[in-house]
Amino acid sequence: MILADATQPTVTSVKHLSYLSFCTPGFAGYCKVGILLFWVIIFSSCRARPFVRITPQMDIEQRFWVRVLLLDDVQSCKLFAPSAFRVINSETQTTVGHVGRLNKPLNINISNRRIVVAGMALMGRETIILPDDPHIFEINDQDYRGKLMLIVNDDGNSFDAINFVPLEPYLAGVVGAEMPDYWEPAALQAQAVAARTYCLYIKNHFGSKRTWDVKKTEANQVYLGVSAESARVWDAIYRTWGQVLVCKQSNDSDALFPAYYSSTCGGHTENSKHVFGDSFEPLVGVPCPYCKEVAKPSFFFWPMVRFDKNTVTNKILQSYPKLKKLGKVTDIIPAKQSNYEGFSRLTLVKLVGSTAESAFLRAEDLRLTINPTGRALKSTICKIVSMGDKWAFLSGRGYGHGVGMCQCGAQALARKSRTVRDILFYYYPGSELSIIY
Ligand SMILES: [Zn+2]
Repeated sequence: MILADATQPTVTSVKHLSYLSFCTPGFAGYCKVGILLFWVIIFSSCRARPFVRITPQMDIEQRFWVRVLLLDDVQSCKLFAPSAFRVINSETQTTVGHVGRLNKPLNINISNRRIVVAGMALMGRETIILPDDPHIFEINDQDYRGKLMLIVNDDGNSFDAINFVPLEPYLAGVVGAEMPDYWEPAALQAQAVAARTYCLYIKNHFGSKRTWDVKKTEANQVYLGVSAESARVWDAIYRTWGQVLVCKQSNDSDALFPAYYSSTCGGHTENSKHVFGDSFEPLVGVPCPYCKEVAKPSFFFWPMVRFDKNTVTNKILQSYPKLKKLGKVTDIIPAKQSNYEGFSRLTLVKLVGSTAESAFLRAEDLRLTINPTGRALKSTICKIVSMGDKWAFLSGRGYGHGVGMCQCGAQALARKSRTVRDILFYYYPGSELSIIY
């Protein structure tokens, strides 16, 4: 809602101006037209950058900041900022440079184990780029809010680029990437709460062991920064500000859980234990007769896809070096599946190798090893058949791992006037809402 003003100048303004310019005689009239033209030009140039409001939460405590891995093991990148920015040595927290407003992107690269910004080699392994208001920077043509951290890797030949961003602006870059922003407000709000809960859970459980909390891809949740934002997305963020889901632990205290979600469950959401190996009461799976009403027919029932057998073997052995004992994968046999009314989801497969050795692999891991984006091989609700030198995946149904909230189901429920609480408590049974700030 706060950012909605930034999009107010619309095509309507231009039409209105055209009307005035045809029927306004005299000097005063031309002045009015001139003033209007001035504002249209100003607004038009503002629209080139989606939102220019100051990034919220820049002063919030560190535990509510998210570290998003943007670039992994790179030798260079391009940086731009619409404002001046400070270069800070992370270890000493001292400002080592202040760069004025740029008129073109500058190069960041690595040389002799040092980050080099615009030709200046920086001391220390970790460097922070902190833009002034509105705290936005652009890296490799993509806008993000917050700060940029550059960390030299152990090999000294590459670096990682990590976005430090407060939780709520991070979520704006997730919600708009994970769900169409024209969907119902209750669905967008449910998405915001699920994404907030998931992010904090992952950060709290894995962040301390590494220099980042989440990746910007489907490996965690898709984050596109400012380009994913819109007034409707920010509305969902503000209406659920600080709300997370919790569930009871064995000691009766409330705790966050990984509030997974996926596009289209296909008719029943899956028990997290079968896909991710973790066990939480809200993630046991529920019937979902709803997503069929919203999902594209080709997502709900997807057509046969085929993958070259040699490529499949290579990808499996690359991801799981321990499976080299298999030689070539000669058979993929369903080992476990969840059976629901009308369909079943593979949860475990047995891989048989040319060496006569065999091994078990979670079906979801097999899917994402063969097709990391999951866009071609959409789910494990399918049959696997050998067809000559190809593996064919037939009778496909649903899109995604199927655990937690079904996004298309959430939209279907929102269309039926269900509230955000109805949606969340349906897909995460036994959970409760809690406010963290
Ligand atoms: Zn569903």
